[in-house]
Amino acid sequence: MRGLSLSYLAVVNFFRSHKRHLLILTVLVGLLVTSGCREKPAPEPVTRTRILMDTLVEVRLFEDNDKIMDAVFDRISEIESLMSRTLASSEISLINHRAGDQPVSVSSDTFTVVTQALEYARLTKGAFDPTVGPLVEAWGISSDHPRVPSEEELSHLISLIDYQRIETDEQTQSVFLQERDMAIDLGGIAKGYAADEAVKVLRAQGIDSAYVNLGGNVWVVGAKPDGSPWRIGVRNPFDESGATFVGVLSLVDTSVVTSGTYERYFISDGVKYHHILDPKTGYPAEGNLASVTIVSQNSMAADGLSTSIFILGKEQGQALVETLPGIEAVLVDNDSKVWVSSGLRDRFEVMEGFTLEH
Ligand code: ADP
Ligand code: MG
Repeated sequence: MRGLSLSYLAVVNFFRSHKRHLLILTVLVGLLVTSGCREKPAPEPVTRTRILMDTLVEVRLFEDNDKIMDAVFDRISEIESLMSRTLASSEISLINHRAGDQPVSVSSDTFTVVTQALEYARLTKGAFDPTVGPLVEAWGISSDHPRVPSEEELSHLISLIDYQRIETDEQTQSVFLQERDMAIDLGGIAKGYAADEAVKVLRAQGIDSAYVNLGGNVWVVGAKPDGSPWRIGVRNPFDESGATFVGVLSLVDTSVVTSGTYERYFISDGVKYHHILDPKTGYPAEGNLASVTIVSQNSMAADGLSTSIFILGKEQGQALVETLPGIEAVLVDNDSKVWVSSGLRDRFEVMEGFTLEH
């Protein structure tokens, strides 16, 4: 016999105000905790949150240990200070500053993420492109001054986007942008790397059960303390409140990352403009997907791929997921149809109102 009670723990709304409206940054994935019949009471969860990497970062452990919490947040903060595009002192800013001029030797952290971003750029033939920086800057969707650039400006900006004009040198760990005004933006992948690194810190401290969430970039370490799987809700992308789900995933020791358009956007003249940009058009990507959730033991891969597949759309996304080892997905299209990849079907329960497709 197994009693199932869902307690909804980790959907947190984080509001940032803009001039005329609220930008709603909502943690994409909810954590639902089941409790079965137990012999001894489960240890109490301890949760800490901080704003890092421009998002709400939540760490949940089952012991009260400030040292471990601090070590995790310090590591994430270190990655932010290396890879932020908006922090003038970051390595990414230095690379961007020296675009067209000279290569910059960087840390192995930054070199790893740039190299991986280039992998996803090649894999998606430039739908995902880390040189999207100038376009991201012009739209300013995550800033407090978003705007719709003119057609003329957009056509100039997209001419600056080309991952093939990034040169990397393994020997010197250097990165060079071939043209002035080009700029790298790792917003589509760096949080995944940070999640992987946070989990490395936890494991080094002997932690075998924990939950880490960087604004929808989740890692569940091990099983829950009672040995049962974590129950991770895939957010309903059509419900701005963030309180309802498309379905629930039962997972152990893996990362889950969701990309959607309900998270960061602004509205101008009644039109909604979101933050995942199509390098071909210069406008927010207009695929047929409402959200993309990737499950993988590599959170950087899950982050890069969730952004990529959002841009590629359902058909190409499904094909890509089924060819990649260790990558599973839940794709929600604009007609509320839910596609779950073959390796994940027995771990996904769909909620009422959504149609499961195979
Ligand atoms: P979030 O960062 O909100 O979790 P994503 O992982 O989907 O969402 O990444 C979106 C971010 O990726 C944008 O805010 C921007 O920094 C960057 N980005 C936007 N368009 C692209 C693109 N075509 N290729 C690579 N990165 C992109
Ligand atoms: Mg991403």
